[in-house]
Amino acid sequence: MNLASLNGVAPVDSAGLSSQLSIRNVTKVFPGKKGLFKKLSGKTSQDFVAIEDISMEIEPNTFVSIIGPSGCGKSTLLGMIAGLMPITGGEILLNGAPIIGPGPDRGMVFQNYALMPWMTVDENIRFAVETVHPKMSPKAINRVIKENIQLVGLEGAERKHPHELSGGMRQRVGIARALAINPQILLMDEPFGALDALTRGFLQDEIERIWEQQRKTVIMITHSIEEALLLSDRIVMMTRGPAARIDEILEAPFPRPRNRETIVQHPAYAALKAEMESHLFRETRAVEAARIRGK
Ligand code: ADP
Ligand code: MG
Repeated sequence: MNLASLNGVAPVDSAGLSSQLSIRNVTKVFPGKKGLFKKLSGKTSQDFVAIEDISMEIEPNTFVSIIGPSGCGKSTLLGMIAGLMPITGGEILLNGAPIIGPGPDRGMVFQNYALMPWMTVDENIRFAVETVHPKMSPKAINRVIKENIQLVGLEGAERKHPHELSGGMRQRVGIARALAINPQILLMDEPFGALDALTRGFLQDEIERIWEQQRKTVIMITHSIEEALLLSDRIVMMTRGPAARIDEILEAPFPRPRNRETIVQHPAYAALKAEMESHLFRETRAVEAARIRGK
């Protein structure tokens, strides 16, 4: 499917006028090990092209999921959008300006939560807000913390440390922390990947509820087809690496607010799910085959 043919998606060559985020011909090459590695092993390893020539325009208030076989470069792409990783070729523009590093306009939620273990829930969120908005008044910071703790349903846990919380509660802190800096774009890298199925379901419902309230642009990496269908407006399916590309972008046309029971009855659901499954099976099978052949 051509990107430009999708409803509400600007053609890539339209200068991204209505885009919030323009990903243009982005390539990421990890340099081969030279220097000391060569000295020790006598070999120079080759450069590794992780992703090649990826382009995509994302409009404001869109929930985008990225799905693809393990190791295809999803985290690499998200890392470049977050500004945590340099881009080898192409560019990523946020509101027309190239991304050159991390910024308060992007908040990140990690699979392993990445909380400071010695800080309480309140302190973890406070630290992020103070770091990103150093001029904010203490009163405003307190208000932001309170609002976001309420938003994710963590009232009463403010003084607890991460080790006193379940995985689901820890990720609620991760989400509250990311949203408390009031980013334009929320980036989530397999946010529910470490959670059991039931907790995962609860948090998906929370994300849907929060998204309805805030309608922030979200870019989420997931391995779950059902999760992508439940939450996303668009689903980006990546091919296997090396030199991974975008294979197809699907639109999830389900009305909002969404509900896991009713969404499966939508006439488009089964066909979309089948298409995603066959894509993922095909790509993963090819990765396994290459591995078996030792490539
Ligand atoms: P995914 O998130 O889709 O599972 P990643 O983005 O983590 O995949 O990795 C994509 C590819 O790039 C993998 O083959 C991985 O081994 C490689 N890669 C990731 N980070 C580095 C790095 N710092 N140096 C070299 N190769 C890397
Ligand atoms: Mg990853």
